[in-house]
Amino acid sequence: MLHFCFPLSGRQRSRAPAHTDAFVLEFVVSHGKALVETMMRLAIVLGAALGAEAFVARPTPKYMAVTRRPAAAKVNMDMAILPKINKLLKSPVIGGVPIVPVVAGVAVAAPVIKKILDTPSRTYNREENTVGKEYDAWTEEGILEHYWGEHIHLGWYSPQEMKDGYKKKNFIQAKYDFIDRMMAFSGLNALEKPPAKVLDVGCGIGGTSRYLASKLGSDSHVTGITLSPNQVARATALAKERGLDNTEFKVMDALAMKFPDNSFDMVWACESGEHMPDKKKYVEEMARVLKPGGVMVMATWCSRDDTEKPLDEVERKNLNYLESEWTHPHFISIEDYVKHFESTGYLETIHSEDWWECTIASWRHSIWVGVYDPWPVVRRPWVWYKTLRDGICLERFHRSFDTGLMGYGMVRARKSTEGYMVKDVTM
Ligand code: SAH
Repeated sequence: MLHFCFPLSGRQRSRAPAHTDAFVLEFVVSHGKALVETMMRLAIVLGAALGAEAFVARPTPKYMAVTRRPAAAKVNMDMAILPKINKLLKSPVIGGVPIVPVVAGVAVAAPVIKKILDTPSRTYNREENTVGKEYDAWTEEGILEHYWGEHIHLGWYSPQEMKDGYKKKNFIQAKYDFIDRMMAFSGLNALEKPPAKVLDVGCGIGGTSRYLASKLGSDSHVTGITLSPNQVARATALAKERGLDNTEFKVMDALAMKFPDNSFDMVWACESGEHMPDKKKYVEEMARVLKPGGVMVMATWCSRDDTEKPLDEVERKNLNYLESEWTHPHFISIEDYVKHFESTGYLETIHSEDWWECTIASWRHSIWVGVYDPWPVVRRPWVWYKTLRDGICLERFHRSFDTGLMGYGMVRARKSTEGYMVKDVTM
């Protein structure tokens, strides 16, 4: 007689008599029958035993007695647990690493990992010039430039492009489209002649400055300022490479600009306000250096207006993360920016819009370009951790724009001048 003892699966256990943790198959090998035949039947019963229903429904084989009975608790425990542990340890192995123990380890470590990833790693500190240092590092690594090109700002996607699937659009082209839209939004295209002197506040590696310089023509001159010396060096080198001699780049703090009052015909600020610890001063400084009648235009990530509905705890926590992870002191709402524009006393025809819908695709698109082309990251192991964090941050920005916690602020204005007529132009 042969005995086989099997632990019951959860489903089988629910159908078995109380206190049954295993079932026993008794095989009575009848005398005179070939062992082969017995073994074949044994295989059939074993197969059936793997599914309780099939097993129960199957009639008792001719040469075997199949019984199901409760077994002693100790034995059952052994039978139930040991094979499982054994199976776990023999589970699929990839590159010599047993997957299940590793997964179990990750499960234990997950809360710790989550805590680390949730804690912002690049908090803003003005005294230490964290903004300048971060952009220095990004410029040196070249990863950002590889994926985002020369423009460090979101792209623009039309409703049709969103419908067709944003991934079909060229990621870099979306950024040029954004600048074209921002130019149109500023009212610049309706001016009688292109602005002669343009200031690009927070110019990155100068992508936008150079684009404006070539679009506006050689009668215009674009000055870009940034806190990062590496960005100035890269921006200058790229301008030289392109043979552009109507741009220049300087390291200068937008909150304490060295330019005299009324210096520029146009002040352009694309995604630099996020990094400003004093948004009012930022707006005032830009308005100060703008010539009377000049155009001022700003694009910036904003938190939602919280005057009627204060931010709840989860929103505040999310904002803290989004602000600190990429070295932003804090965000403010579009409405608060408008108030800062108004309070200067000499900015007129102030107009604001929220462009979250036509820019939101940029966040996930940015992740996808990395997935499609991982080699620049793969070959630089020292950026893996940072890139992982950036991927998470991109996704969290997407969600915050999607849920309305964040908005994409576009604000334009003119500096007042007696008798100056402003033509309102929107696309
Ligand atoms: N407008 C750029 C890139 C924006 S990235 C483009 O079109 O590509 C943000 C830029 O703002 C960085 O260059 C950063 O150095 C700059 N910045 C942030 N705070 C600044 C400050 N206080 N003064 C000057 N530049 C600042």
